[in-house]
Amino acid sequence: MIGIKNIKYLAFILLSSVSIIVASMYWHVTELRDNLISSNAINTARLYTTALNQFRAIYTSEVVSIASMNNLDVSHDYAVRDNAIPLPATLSMLLGEQIGNLTAGASSQLLSPYPFPWRNQGQGVVLDGFDQKAWNFLSEHSTEQYYEFAHDSEGITLHYAIADVMKADCVGCHNSHPSSPKTDWKVGDVRGILKVNLPLDVISLETTSNLLSTISIYITVGVGLVFIVGLVIIKLSRHSKTLEQKVIERTKELESEILERKNQEERFRIGIEASPAAMIMTDDNGKILYTNTEANRVFSYPVGELIDKSIELLVPNKHRGKHENLQKSFFQNPSPRSMVGRDLFAQKMNGDIFPVEIGITPIETSNGMLVLCAVTDLTERKAVEGKILEQSKLLQVANERLLIESTVDSLTNIANRRSLITQLDIFLKLSRRHNRPISILMADIDYFKEYNDALGHLAGDSALKKIAQKIDAAKRDADFVGRYGGEEFVIILPDTDAEGAILAGEKIRMAIESISTLERKVTASLGATTLNISKDDQFEVQNLRELLIQNADDALYHSKKNGRNMVSHSNMLN
Ligand code: GH3
Ligand code: MG
Ligand code: MG
Repeated sequence: MIGIKNIKYLAFILLSSVSIIVASMYWHVTELRDNLISSNAINTARLYTTALNQFRAIYTSEVVSIASMNNLDVSHDYAVRDNAIPLPATLSMLLGEQIGNLTAGASSQLLSPYPFPWRNQGQGVVLDGFDQKAWNFLSEHSTEQYYEFAHDSEGITLHYAIADVMKADCVGCHNSHPSSPKTDWKVGDVRGILKVNLPLDVISLETTSNLLSTISIYITVGVGLVFIVGLVIIKLSRHSKTLEQKVIERTKELESEILERKNQEERFRIGIEASPAAMIMTDDNGKILYTNTEANRVFSYPVGELIDKSIELLVPNKHRGKHENLQKSFFQNPSPRSMVGRDLFAQKMNGDIFPVEIGITPIETSNGMLVLCAVTDLTERKAVEGKILEQSKLLQVANERLLIESTVDSLTNIANRRSLITQLDIFLKLSRRHNRPISILMADIDYFKEYNDALGHLAGDSALKKIAQKIDAAKRDADFVGRYGGEEFVIILPDTDAEGAILAGEKIRMAIESISTLERKVTASLGATTLNISKDDQFEVQNLRELLIQNADDALYHSKKNGRNMVSHSNMLN
């Protein structure tokens, strides 16, 4: 975000940079101008001398030789003589003057320490100053150039010189000319120097003019750039206030969001910390990010010890592979899951395995999907459940025993009187519903007091057991037998009429009489009675039951009265 301060700073930097760039350019262009003037002047001088040399060479080879063959004189004073043409050097100097007039006052000279006599007193002698230094240098380095820039009140002048080397076309003439000061010239000897004096005023003016144009362009471009940058800065300044305002508002929003998130995290942490279950938060790789105090207690780890560890650490070794697969499948379809009812186990720090109940919940966060696991230690609950199971088993056994005790006669192991009456009521209801007859038999052992008196009470008990078993074996499967009292038994005969009742009574009577395992033979007297009832009858079951027993008792009394060891039916009594 760019603020006003930053924009001002940027503008200052830009202006400074532009100023530095313009100053650097000015310095650079000035340097460039000086270099250009120098190299321009040197090139002009080189062209000048090269042109003169070339001209002299061509003149010598193409004109002088032909003129000599045609008997023309080649002489420095050709102007005052007939049939004479100028010497190559003389003509070259003339040409030099002409070119010099066209080249802003340039002049040229041929100088030699061996001048022809007609030039001895004139300009063509190597004298002193630049000429001497040029001769000294070029006589040793004939292929190079020698120059100096001379500064005086009229300006700068380039003094430029190259070696005047003796060529093949020249050697013959120079060695044979009667006025030659030296006659042993060889090709390549340095005869003198060709010097050019070039005032730099014109070149300097031209170059400076170009420089001014260049600087004008640079300044125009620079001013344009500054103008554009200024415009950009103004635009940025206008936008910066809006942007700063937006930044301030957004910053406030973010601060408020961060505060709200921190508050949420704090509430979440307090909530988890207060949970009675062990709470463990992991990332999608199973790395533990957070545990509450209860988790550290349940798994017996010091506070903070589990952070950044794998959740696998809390899973018993033999379940680890399976747990990893469960974890993967959870992240494929993340939803709250309760694992209550499964036999799950966890592992403490010391390796102890203990039963647990686990619930897992996915939590979507800005850092991705996390999992919150709630683990409940079931050790105590399992122990209590074990005790309850054990006690309920004991209770069940006791109940069964009580049930037996409440329905079974302890001496004879057949139904007791209470059970007998309950069953009789059920049979009566069924008979009434199905319009079927029902009979009962009441049996009383004959003279049993005497049996006891003769053989003892224990023998009497033993006899009662055997008699009960005999009656139970002699009755039909559908019949029901119970001990009604002392040595009296009642046999319920469902779906049995009077005739059937008498037959059943006889069967039982004979069975008792035939018991051979007793120390003394016993007989029994039986009374039978039959009831034919329909569902239309309005009698209470209790009344029916009492009537039935009373009638059976009356019939029994009849048997006792009429000789014992016999069966009487209540029908016979009237
Ligand atoms: P009768 O019926 O033929 O008239 O003569 P009884 O001697 O059998 O007379 P009653 O039926 O009145 O007497 C019942 C006797 O049965 C009394 C008692 O000595 C005997 N008795 C009753 N209950 C038991 C018992 O549980 N064990 C033993 N050992 N004897 C019992
Ligand atoms: Mg009796
Ligand atoms: Mg009796």
